[in-house]
Amino acid sequence: MATQNFLNEVNKRRTFAIISHPDAGKTTITEKVLLFGHAIQTAGTVKGRGSSHHAKSDWMEMEKERGISVTTSVMQFPYNDCIVNLLDTPGHEDFSEDTYRTLTAVDSCLMVIDAAKGVEDRTRKLMDVTRLRDTPILTFMNKLDRDTRDPMELLDEVETELNIACAPITWPIGCGKEFKGVYHIQRDEIILYQSGQGHTIQELRVIKGLTNPKVDDVIGTGLAASLREELELVIGASNEFDEALFLAGELTPVFFGTALGNFGVDHMLEGLTEWAPAPLPRQTDVREVSADDDAFSGFVFKIQANMDPKHRDRIAFMRVVSGEYTKGMKMRHVRIGKDVSISDAVTFMAGDRSAAERAIAGDIIGLHNHGTIQIGDTFSSGETFKFTGIPNFAPEMFQRIRLKDPLKQKQLQKGLIQLSEEGAVQVFRPMRNNDLIVGAVGVLQFDVVVHRLRTEYKVEAVYEAIHIASARWCDCSDPRKLDEFTRKAHEYLALDGGDNLTYLAPTMVNLNLTMERHADIEFFKTREH
Ligand code: GDP
Repeated sequence: MATQNFLNEVNKRRTFAIISHPDAGKTTITEKVLLFGHAIQTAGTVKGRGSSHHAKSDWMEMEKERGISVTTSVMQFPYNDCIVNLLDTPGHEDFSEDTYRTLTAVDSCLMVIDAAKGVEDRTRKLMDVTRLRDTPILTFMNKLDRDTRDPMELLDEVETELNIACAPITWPIGCGKEFKGVYHIQRDEIILYQSGQGHTIQELRVIKGLTNPKVDDVIGTGLAASLREELELVIGASNEFDEALFLAGELTPVFFGTALGNFGVDHMLEGLTEWAPAPLPRQTDVREVSADDDAFSGFVFKIQANMDPKHRDRIAFMRVVSGEYTKGMKMRHVRIGKDVSISDAVTFMAGDRSAAERAIAGDIIGLHNHGTIQIGDTFSSGETFKFTGIPNFAPEMFQRIRLKDPLKQKQLQKGLIQLSEEGAVQVFRPMRNNDLIVGAVGVLQFDVVVHRLRTEYKVEAVYEAIHIASARWCDCSDPRKLDEFTRKAHEYLALDGGDNLTYLAPTMVNLNLTMERHADIEFFKTREH
């Protein structure tokens, strides 16, 4: 049995990701979260923007030292007696597959909304993904230092469009130039905003009690009166926070603030550490694995090229589901059935090098991958099971890829297969010829592949148009029937990067006919790794 000490440590973990529409402020919030987590001293720029504090933060120094882009992957820091893991998700829509898989590795999400704009397209899509697992959601209404929409209307929009109840925890006092701060409904406190304090932790200016006459002194009698009136309405009309509903993914606590002005992010962090779930169990094909199980287990949800061009290895990101990783330990690589000794995993505790020896359930570790690890791989303490629910999506766009220098075919194939293991793109090798076909969910993925083939594998490749409308992974429980299908449909069949049988349909009509004709064969739009 796990010791009480270990359980206490697991229960302190909070592993979350931020979802938002581009430009809502995810990067800025990440930076402020790190500032509050004391992972950085002054909020400079997490991803170089034109601010005056362009100086390298400690964080980036660390990034250089470790030779991987820590800032774009996982950030771990202590907050309020908790250990928080923040997982970054790629911002661009074309990499939504990567985002989807990252969301399988977290236990809660922060949804960031630009309060001037409200619910936007990408927020909607990402929320759909989190609904599949009923992930608990916290909400931050950002950019209150600008003129925003009416806060009540924003809550309404979230409720109706995203189908989740809102419970305001804080409430904004004015906005734009008139933004004075927030009223913390639960604590009955007014927390005052000071502009121009974006880069350091602000000294708190708090007035206890909404009816306190000091409120009138500081924000003016008129505003104070209308605030009291408004809050009476708000509190009457909105949901009260309910932890059980939050944990069930049915209700979201809502915070207001400005990430740029460094205000309100700490309220959200307090909510996160207090309410968000400790590491949740994960399902395998055999049984559910709980975080307090003391046998080590984990799954790989993302593979990323090393940002340091001198080292060509790639990092496989593993969510530890149960037990503990210690340096040099043996673990079972379930898919290939081998025990491997891991001595150089990367851990992500900000600033604390000694912690790099160890990680426990809820944490993320980075494994150096020399080609044996794929997305979706399970590692265990010897037990044979496989974590489920980490899918690949059938690509919707296809191009044939061709070399400028035909002698480098081997490198091209190797590069493409490695990139497909990372989930950057999917590769298909038709059975009837030696073509290499690249499939992507978003068009930008094609450019990235050619660029990375050039810089990382030293091959110059170009694309050619090809007539493929859609792809489906094929399977059948009867090997004889699968064999027959493979012969008959040979012309349109291919193997993907992991040697899985795939049907590449030239047209949708062809696909439908084929599916009708081969009713015994299953055609899948997603494939679990
Ligand atoms: P991301 O695309 O979601 O990562 O958004 P960023 O954090 O990069 O922010 C997009 C833009 O909005 C940047 O120019 C930020 O400086 C700006 N921004 C972020 N938060 C705030 C805020 O609270 N107030 C204002 N006025 N601008 C903000």
